[in-house]
Amino acid sequence: MNISNFINGSHSSPSSSPSFSSINPQTNEFIASIPLSSSQEIDLAVQAAHAAFPRWSATSRAQRSAYLTAIADAIHARHEEFAVWESRDQGKTLARARVEVDRAIANFRYFATFILHETSTARFTPDERVLTYEHRSARGVFALISPWNMPLYLLTWKIAPCLAFGCTGVAKPSELTSITAYLLSEIFVQVRLPPGVMNIVYGDGSTGADLVRHGFIQGISFTGGTQTGIRIRQDTAADIQKHLSLELGGKNATIVFDDADLDAAVDVAAKAAFENQGEICLCGSRIYIHQSIYHQFVSKFVEHVSRTYIPGDTLGAVISLAHYNKIRSYLTLAKQEDFLLGGVPPENPTNGYWISPCILKNNDNQSPLCQEEIFGPVVTVSPFDTEEEAVSLANDSKYGLAAILLTKDGARMRRVGERLQAGLVWVNCWLVRELGTPFGGMKASGVGREGGSILKMCFVWFVFCIALCSMRCIVCEANIYLLNRDI
Ligand code: NAP
Repeated sequence: MNISNFINGSHSSPSSSPSFSSINPQTNEFIASIPLSSSQEIDLAVQAAHAAFPRWSATSRAQRSAYLTAIADAIHARHEEFAVWESRDQGKTLARARVEVDRAIANFRYFATFILHETSTARFTPDERVLTYEHRSARGVFALISPWNMPLYLLTWKIAPCLAFGCTGVAKPSELTSITAYLLSEIFVQVRLPPGVMNIVYGDGSTGADLVRHGFIQGISFTGGTQTGIRIRQDTAADIQKHLSLELGGKNATIVFDDADLDAAVDVAAKAAFENQGEICLCGSRIYIHQSIYHQFVSKFVEHVSRTYIPGDTLGAVISLAHYNKIRSYLTLAKQEDFLLGGVPPENPTNGYWISPCILKNNDNQSPLCQEEIFGPVVTVSPFDTEEEAVSLANDSKYGLAAILLTKDGARMRRVGERLQAGLVWVNCWLVRELGTPFGGMKASGVGREGGSILKMCFVWFVFCIALCSMRCIVCEANIYLLNRDI
């Protein structure tokens, strides 16, 4: 496949830029040629989005909703094609890829209807002739930058609200996973999205850096690693008007209390550790287990994981050789006797980047295995004695993206859940997402919130999960207008 940039409504000639090769991590075979976009091409894409903004932001909500629905329908019609390419490009299982295509479609459908039903607030003032209300106006051109672990799902989670709220954009997927973004650009042509409204450019980190620094970019919605987030903040520090939403790395804790339903807890903790071969920012990669059930839990957990997560069947390959080597280097830090499952994978794999699930005993919370984001099929298990100790171990991390709490005790759900330093706390479940719930991390896991309603601060209870979060809309700016008229 030859991937080409999508700028101002058309695909540029594949030969216009230097290119690099994309490989299938499951087989190490070449699958696509990706352009390395020049700064001139980035400029063309941003200029196109800038020129398209006045007309697009003036379209009615109903018109934008119709475009989003048409995009969702068109992806749905090519669902399997998207899923197969996502699996080949990223290394994930086909089953996992299908779920993510479903969720990409849901991103467009959600924002297509959200904008039709949005409300605003009006407040009374002491002066009875004056009411205040909130009006959100579209802000301009956004840079939408996504990582390689859930390529289509995360890119569409940015593109859909950007379009829905009347903004235009330039999207850049990770250099490692460009193919489904290219298929999406074909869909933009098919539904006749007006030229320039959404542009997609390909390339490496320097392409992303050119994009965020461009003077016409009004805001950046970025998902990726914490170090890249810091770099983006540095690169845009002088552009004070640029709105930044940074969704960054995580090293999330799973806490298993002694009153948890053991079989259900094993299942949730295993999914949280090994889904998408551990390449999800929200994965629970350090499990803390109450001392009284530690041995029972661990033995069931090891048995369940070894039976359920089989490389090549229910577990995909990791994204690249560089990432394989990174995960491998962490595994070499563990002592042989600490491996309850798995082991150090071989050096220089030739037939894809496969790593079997690894479960490691760990009693040192300061170990890099407990502190650093490995982003692979690796989980540590450690015991705790008291609730206080569990909270302190979980919070002893520079990250604060998510946490998983496994307990039947309703009072403990709140008592512990509210003290965990995490943007999102799942209770007795994991990865349950409702797109209206604000999403984002604390500490080194990011700034800003994506999704959500118009509430500024919220504490939301679900039947199955608790979300502790504050909200910031990524693509709109809230302006307060004062109405001063005789009533
Ligand atoms: P990454 O290296 O930070 O890259 C993310 C994106 O940023 C890629 O498109 C990348 O392009 C681009 N980029 C690189 N340098 C840039 C720069 N200086 N300016 C602008 N853009 C730049 O992250 P990754 O390795 O792809 O993804 C893994 C990380 O993402 C993990 O840390 C994971 O936790 C995090 N993540 C977070 C969330 C969340 O919601 N919080 C969700 C998923 C993943 P190239 O790839 O072409 O270099």
